[in-house]
Amino acid sequence: MKVMKFGGTSVGKPERMHQVAQLITKGDEPTIVVLSALSGTTNSLVEISTSLSQGDRMAAKQKIDQLEAHYRAFVLDLLKKEDTRHKANDVLKEHFEFLNIILRISFSEALNKDILAQGELLSTKLFSAYLEEQGIDHLLLPALEFMSIDSNEEPQLGSIKIKLSQLLHHNNAKKLFITQGYICRNAKGEVDNLKRGGSDYTASLIAAAIKATVCEIWTDIDGMHNNDPRIVDKTIAIKQLSFDEAAELAYFGAKILHPTCIWPAQQENVPVKLLNTMQPEAAGTVITKEAGSVGVKAVAAKDGIIAIKIKSSRMLLAYGFLRKVFEVFEKYHTSIDMITTSEVAVSVTIDSDIYLLQIVRELEPFGTVDVEQQQTIVSIVGNEIAQTEDVLQKLFSAVKEVPVTMVSYGGSPHNISLLVPSTYKTKTLQLLNKGLFGL
Ligand code: ASP
Ligand code: MG
Repeated sequence: MKVMKFGGTSVGKPERMHQVAQLITKGDEPTIVVLSALSGTTNSLVEISTSLSQGDRMAAKQKIDQLEAHYRAFVLDLLKKEDTRHKANDVLKEHFEFLNIILRISFSEALNKDILAQGELLSTKLFSAYLEEQGIDHLLLPALEFMSIDSNEEPQLGSIKIKLSQLLHHNNAKKLFITQGYICRNAKGEVDNLKRGGSDYTASLIAAAIKATVCEIWTDIDGMHNNDPRIVDKTIAIKQLSFDEAAELAYFGAKILHPTCIWPAQQENVPVKLLNTMQPEAAGTVITKEAGSVGVKAVAAKDGIIAIKIKSSRMLLAYGFLRKVFEVFEKYHTSIDMITTSEVAVSVTIDSDIYLLQIVRELEPFGTVDVEQQQTIVSIVGNEIAQTEDVLQKLFSAVKEVPVTMVSYGGSPHNISLLVPSTYKTKTLQLLNKGLFGL
């Protein structure tokens, strides 16, 4: 059995949905199809929710009506037969009635989650109506019946496995299943979600749960690229990556894949393929256990980074100093990305300024604290990169005009990270494209 996940742009237009239907019916292998909401929908739902939380019902109502009009037009274009159109309009009626009812009840976090869930519920039901119109046999599997997170918001892979296998067992005559990405139930049994962009995570969790032969993530780009195509002119798709390399890249900014989505597939050793709906024949990127080759494969950048340097002569020969420093970050639930130390100073980076003021205040008794905002982490990722000949020389000669603020090397055999002022991000990525890839 395999898993195929389609993102918002892959289902965002009626003709794209038609194309998805072709892609999922090509092979004979039983398949679970995971869909995101139509592109733009989750953003609209967030806006509706925000307006409601601010007590602005008028604005919320206006946005609900706009969204409904969009879906009405979508259905007219997607479906051609009277009875399936009728069914789809009933689906719209159900979900937009729900949205209109919540206008009248008081806002809560649980309600917010219910609102956000509408996008994937709508996309899967409309797609199912289209498959029905085409006479394509399938079953809609409600994600809310098997996808769950615990009280720490971690997916419960064990129970997902059990529930999903029961559902599949009861329907073992079916070959094609459609389900929602992103949505799940939480420890209280309420509707919840796997955070923005979480449909990839759903796909990977399902793939792990059923030990799928492959987890295909279909988007609108032909795989992971060696550099950011929005910034650098010439980039190339990476043919193959290991799970570790892909996890580093996804975390450090390669937008194509959600960072959390690697571990479930990795745990069950299910290969992940990144494919392009616009160019289905392109090879894309395959992510497997082994790295395939040694050396630099890609660079990626993560913005919005804050560097904090704590300098103290008391650190000299002292033990327990770092623990005290780290405890401050722990207390404020702020995770650290990069760390470098010298005998009298330690520098760390964080990617959230929510508790910056409190953190700095608590660090000040330890020494002089310097904060640099608007920094970017540029990560160079590749298997056994540290052992690759000349890599440091090439790297540093490529970026010799860039005022690098921090370097992290050796923490992972697959990653070298540089911290640069964000104003130098474009330049750094372009220089590295030339210096490391000759592009
Ligand atoms: N629809 C959700 C979002 O836009 C989940 C996803 O697309 O992965 O974040
Ligand atoms: Mg998406």
